[in-house]
Amino acid sequence: MKQRVAIIGAGPCGLAQLRAFQSARAGGAEIPELVCFEKQSDWGGMWNYTWRTGLDEHGEAVHGSMYRYLWSNGPKECLEFADYSFDEHFGRPMGSYPPREVLWDYIKGRVEKAGVRPWIRFNTTVRGVAFDAESQTFEVTAHSYEQDLTYSETFDYVVVASGHFSTPNVPYFPGFESFAGRVLHAHDFRDALEFKGKDVLIVGGSYSAEDIGSQCFKYGARSITSCYRSAPMGYKWPENWEEKPLLTHVKGSTAFFADGSSRHIDAIILCTGYKHHFPFLPEELRLKTGNRLWPLNLYKGVFWEQNPKLIYLGMQDQWYSFNMFDAQAWYARDVILGRIALPDFERMQAEDLAWRREEETLETAQQMFEFQGEYIRQLIEATDYPSFDIAEVNRTFLEWKHDKYENIMGYRDKCHRSLITGTMATPHHTPWLQALDDSLGAYLADSPEPSMKATG
Ligand SMILES: Cc1cc2nc3c(=O)[nH]c(=O)nc-3n(C[C@H](O)[C@H](O)[C@H](O)COP(=O)(O)OP(=O)(O)OC[C@H]3O[C@@H](n4cnc5c(N)ncnc54)[C@H](O)[C@@H]3O)c2cc1C
Repeated sequence: MKQRVAIIGAGPCGLAQLRAFQSARAGGAEIPELVCFEKQSDWGGMWNYTWRTGLDEHGEAVHGSMYRYLWSNGPKECLEFADYSFDEHFGRPMGSYPPREVLWDYIKGRVEKAGVRPWIRFNTTVRGVAFDAESQTFEVTAHSYEQDLTYSETFDYVVVASGHFSTPNVPYFPGFESFAGRVLHAHDFRDALEFKGKDVLIVGGSYSAEDIGSQCFKYGARSITSCYRSAPMGYKWPENWEEKPLLTHVKGSTAFFADGSSRHIDAIILCTGYKHHFPFLPEELRLKTGNRLWPLNLYKGVFWEQNPKLIYLGMQDQWYSFNMFDAQAWYARDVILGRIALPDFERMQAEDLAWRREEETLETAQQMFEFQGEYIRQLIEATDYPSFDIAEVNRTFLEWKHDKYENIMGYRDKCHRSLITGTMATPHHTPWLQALDDSLGAYLADSPEPSMKATG
């Protein structure tokens, strides 16, 4: 009997897994039967934008956390697929920080070329996974929205590629229940124009805080106040952006901070992170971790050590993203195909703990992306995924960090060189701060739209 592999999610991770198997098949290998379950009606995961918030059209939690006008927050050269370059997809050089729709197009281009869509069951959510020790197989229970049908099937492997930026971590601050304006989590943020002319409070000090605050600034918020628990972000913010220590409480329209200061606020956006949330997994198979570079109990960062037929992709905090998912997917594929043998539990755990010990010593951003780069290098070395210059990617990350400290509202205008093709990015026709139209058409146009000239 042919082996069967269930893949939960058709975002960048699930698609990497499909592409990995397809490339093995193209090379003459016999591959297992693949079923990718995707609860949304299209692929691309986070990059498939939805205007919805709260519940989706089926009454399930909306997966998407991306918002309008989102541009890549890191250089595209640091995430480029080694087997499908930006040059191959777009046929021309472009800027280093494309908007969401452009990156979505790129993600789709590779899997359209690979022809893997028939392996995906769209509009189908996975509701349960159970492992049967006797038969050493999983029973996956799914629900098809189109047929309104719940059914179960048996698989030899399960790949969890359901993402971890969907279930918001929502803290409470005294006074929220009577706050005079809107309180929302970043997961529900969709359009910065909603906050034009308003005094916005951003709670949090990480990527979402930095980017959502920047969006609000760009689209005309009156003021931004961001507050942090441990340390300020420390960028050279525009004049109407102030960083404060943590919020203590709100009263009416006034926010109070740990340093005793207070200020008027119209809206509060909680950029307080996400939870790894796997409601479809039983206790003994469920990864429990914060967002960190080395979650425990995953050999090679992917195999559930207690039962390595369960595979998690992309569960790490992400400096590297698409290329890390590829490295993981190729490695997982080769284990499933029997090309790589897994060691016993003790050796898996010892290696896992060694990575964790190293992770705990990391202090600077540079050490962190070098750590993740080394992890990826080791994975890639073991498979036929095309190798690329990880040291150069790390250097590009370093330049990016430097550019952000130089000019947080201008770093997206910088250009970097592809580590796959050597092509130098070309400046976008409009500086990021003035580029209000983030559509694929506007981005790929040779010059700004007339309407953009008027506003910009
Ligand atoms: C606001 C925001 C901005 C970001 N910006 C960047 C950026 O600029 N650059 C970058 O590299 N990364 C960025 N990321 C990280 C981004 O999450 C990753 O790039 C990538 O999308 C992760 O891929 P994934 O496949 O692991 O998860 P996702 O993209 O989240 O995809 C998971 C898929 O699983 C499906 N799914 C979930 N549960 C089930 C279920 N039970 N049954 C069936 N299907 C299910 C979902 O519908 C979804 O399609 C950003 C993330 C967020 C939230």
